Amino acid sequence: MTEPTGASVSLVVPVYNEEEAVGAFHAQLQEAIAPLAYHFTIYYVNDGSSDGTQQALQQIANQDDCVVVVELSRNFGHQAALTAGLDMAEGDYVISLDGDGQHPPALIGEMLRLAEAGCDVVLTQRVEAEQPAGRPSFKRWSSEQFYRLINRIGDTQVLPGAADFRLLRRPVVLALRQMREYHRLLRGMVAWMGYRTVILPYHPPERLAGQSKYSLRKMLGLAMNAIFSFSLVPLYIGISVGALFLVLALAEMVYVLSFWVTGQQSGLAPGWSSLMFVLLVVGGSLMITIGFIGIYVGYIFQEVKGRPIYLVRRTTGGAQAAEEEHLGQ
Ligand code: UDP
Ligand code: MG
Repeated sequence: MTEPTGASVSLVVPVYNEEEAVGAFHAQLQEAIAPLAYHFTIYYVNDGSSDGTQQALQQIANQDDCVVVVELSRNFGHQAALTAGLDMAEGDYVISLDGDGQHPPALIGEMLRLAEAGCDVVLTQRVEAEQPAGRPSFKRWSSEQFYRLINRIGDTQVLPGAADFRLLRRPVVLALRQMREYHRLLRGMVAWMGYRTVILPYHPPERLAGQSKYSLRKMLGLAMNAIFSFSLVPLYIGISVGALFLVLALAEMVYVLSFWVTGQQSGLAPGWSSLMFVLLVVGGSLMITIGFIGIYVGYIFQEVKGRPIYLVRRTTGGAQAAEEEHLGQ
């Protein structure tokens, strides 16, 4: 194992309605970091939980000096909660991981070893064990399709199965802080930045407790962000379909003209169904193109408003936070 370096490490853990899991998670985390010779600070970001998560976190912070609890003003979503933690984290290394135990804290030692060896970014990659029934779950299937799609049409390649369990060295965190876009997919933004990156595969354990907080709607939102904030391909699709129909129209014109020139009977008189067909297809593709443009305009609108990505209600715990609270009174 690496010799003590005296370096500081910030752990960023976004939690949303995890009252059942967070206690067990913290115990796991403490066990994993106890033998490591670093100065750790744990930032729990409570992403507007409506259950007893805040109280559970408060209890943890009371017993553990190195815990800071950041309470957001409402549920801003996983990516925003992670951003809140990354903005506060002051460590030489910053590691983000989920608070449900699916990102095993036992890997932290290995991640730090890789970072000490000179890597700027340590990405962990989820490698799923084969399912006994041989039937992939919807979640797994949709995740595969998600990565396939964004890597096909996006400008930035994202490693499949590499979610938000990663280590970033301080300069990388500072670079990431400069990227204030409202629609965020951190894994895409980290991939875009580059830096010396290494991949650490792991088998994901089951959730410690509770249910996944990623509803279908949230997953679709994330996929939309991945597509429309990293790719202009949807616009090209519309343009290509439009061009195809122009070519078809030209061909039809030549066809009709050929009858006129040769003086033959075309027999096209009824023509209603073919006209209707062309009308519907052209109309449909126009609507799709306008829809794509509309989504981009919506994204631009939300970006130009320049609203904050998250709002902090209060920060408690940790020596520094206690001081700030005192000053605030
Ligand atoms: N999470 C969050 N805000 C949300 C949704 C989720 O902070 O709006 C947290 C959640 O508590 C967990 C992590 O993000 O620590 C990953 O969420 P989850 O485990 O539900 O996602 P899954 O692992 O099912 O993809
Ligand atoms: Mg999870």
